Amino acid sequence: MIHKKYKTNWSQQVVVKQEIDKYLVDGKDFIDEGMIFHQLKNAQNPDPQLIRDILQKSLSINILTPEETATLLNVTSPDLWDEINHTALEVKKKVYDNRIVFFAPLYCSNLCVNNCAYCGFREANHHEVRRILTEEEIRRETSSVLNEGHKRLILVFGEHEKSDIDYMVSAVKAVYSVEEKAPISGHPSSIRRVNINAAPMETAKLKLLKEAGIGTYQVFQETYHHETYQRVHPTNTLKGDYQWRLYALHRAIDAGLDDVAIGALFGLYDWRFEVMGLLYHAIDLERQFGIGPHTISFPRMTPALGSELSNESPFRVSDTDFKKLVAVLRLSVPKAGMIVTAREKADIKKEVLQLGCTQTDASTRIGIGAYSDQKSEINLGNKQFTIGDPRDLDDVTREVAQLGYISSFCTAGYRCGRTGETIMGMLGNCVEGKFCKLNAVLTFREYLSDYASEATREIGEPLILKEIQEIESMDYFRNKPHLLEKFRNDYRDTLNGKRDLYL
Ligand code: SAM
Ligand code: SF4
Repeated sequence: MIHKKYKTNWSQQVVVKQEIDKYLVDGKDFIDEGMIFHQLKNAQNPDPQLIRDILQKSLSINILTPEETATLLNVTSPDLWDEINHTALEVKKKVYDNRIVFFAPLYCSNLCVNNCAYCGFREANHHEVRRILTEEEIRRETSSVLNEGHKRLILVFGEHEKSDIDYMVSAVKAVYSVEEKAPISGHPSSIRRVNINAAPMETAKLKLLKEAGIGTYQVFQETYHHETYQRVHPTNTLKGDYQWRLYALHRAIDAGLDDVAIGALFGLYDWRFEVMGLLYHAIDLERQFGIGPHTISFPRMTPALGSELSNESPFRVSDTDFKKLVAVLRLSVPKAGMIVTAREKADIKKEVLQLGCTQTDASTRIGIGAYSDQKSEINLGNKQFTIGDPRDLDDVTREVAQLGYISSFCTAGYRCGRTGETIMGMLGNCVEGKFCKLNAVLTFREYLSDYASEATREIGEPLILKEIQEIESMDYFRNKPHLLEKFRNDYRDTLNGKRDLYL
């Protein structure tokens, strides 16, 4: 179907109405605002015993109901928040063990036909210097990211004819084609998992991304509140179609991309409402496909060039509320990975890593071409928003090690078929975390030998030994001697220079 309201021939072809309608129930989407407001209001002044019962349910790795989540969101007692925070970390440890997965974002293009009120890339921002990376430039950026020690990348694009599916596929291939030598050991290294954050697409295009070998497809709804959505995304732009975006990940699963990532941009509307929206999104994915979100993101809006909204939104989320929303999301959707990004300052990042986050970025540059050309990062006219934590990967892995967590660069899951329904089952039974523990140690071993500074190795080496002792003493592995044996061999081989071994 052709949409006359959009400006160009290309944009008129993007939204395919049938690929929205097929997911609606009685013509409605799954965000019933009246119901959400009612649930939030009804759960005021919760009984402490009810809170404790809900925490127990989450500890048995079951997704919470909207009513239960609304109850947690209404807690006011500091003591109960302490219990909530404590349980959030316990849930994370049960499902994901004590590891933090690292990735780096790679911004490929800031060309964009949309006018999102909070974003520096919006079309009407004439201060933005527009740039789309060539394949050669993408390879150069990838080399810089590899030299930091990363193994996972997320490619990020504005929405534009020039960065449509063919460009995305060529970008993915360009990234996978790069091989570098690790600076300390000289061992070969390459990116092992490319994820994508890009605008919603029709199923046929998503299938091409699947064929190109991407890991996760990520689309943030930004806000689940219809009226706010319409206010910050003009209706005559592609992004102005709320439901096209709401069902982007449903289409992805239909296209075979079963690791999908949801998110909301916190600061556009009431944070409690957005937590409920994310939960309803997870519930609808589970209802329609039996697969929940692979990850949840909860970026807080940060200042963007020329965007009044990003500087003075009435819904800006305080640090205290931010920590609450992280803990509640951890408990409400216990199987989902949770991503905190470099938008947050180092001290907040550190705190929410201890509330159950599972992934973070480091050495992040969000200017187009900014990994290999530091000048474009300094120039704010080439950036989408401002970042709070510009530290190198080495600094962040060291801090993570000080907290007692293993930095993981594991990409085994999707290469071993542990995606979608399979991984969700394993997460629910707390089995995936065990594999992750082994792969985290193997990839942290690689990192320490290939990239880490002396200061990081000093903390990392005893940590890895402690982790190995723990693995050796766990009943789960003792009952699977073949697995333990393979792990021991792989660890020894990694120490001796073999790379990319996983279970
Ligand atoms: N153009 C695509 C889209 O909008 O889906 C892809 C990515 S956009 C470059 C990535 C994400 O950055 C957006 O989904 C939005 O949540 C976030 N973002 C935009 N402006 C931001 C700001 N001022 N502060 C923090 N995050 C922002
Ligand atoms: Fe474009 Fe995405 Fe920025 Fe909106 S958030 S202006 S769609 S890059």
